[in-house]
Amino acid sequence: MKGEIFMEMANCVRCRKLFPKFKEPICEDCKKKDEELFKIVKDYLDSTPSATIQEISNETGASTKKILAWLREGRLELAETTGDLKCKQCGIDITSGQFCDSCVMEINRQIDGIISERPSVANNESAKKGIVMHTKNRK
Ligand SMILES: [Zn+2]
Ligand SMILES: [Zn+2]
Repeated sequence: MKGEIFMEMANCVRCRKLFPKFKEPICEDCKKKDEELFKIVKDYLDSTPSATIQEISNETGASTKKILAWLREGRLELAETTGDLKCKQCGIDITSGQFCDSCVMEINRQIDGIISERPSVANNESAKKGIVMHTKNRK
């Protein structure tokens, strides 16, 4: 018996240090640095809401790639669209996340349709034309 706790080791994708791999591809040190950097970026964005991703990067030292990732995760939000972040569905400029509001709504509707396993006909037009909802809430 070796008496060792088996632990999967991996090289941190950031600093290449060998570390016990849990979920994240980066080690604790890099994660901590990331959090500090995130705070700096967030503070900067709070004080300079109109900053573009490039400006944020220049001022805080965070890479544009990282800032974009935070925006995609919804952890950061731009005050206005800067042309850096686009809806993955329709390509219009957005300030945070993956999709614009209308695509989010559309995606949610599709997910609802899949869950109920029924083609969704509940758009406004068909609702107006023939489908009468049974809303007999009145007494
Ligand atoms: Zn690291
Ligand atoms: Zn969209």
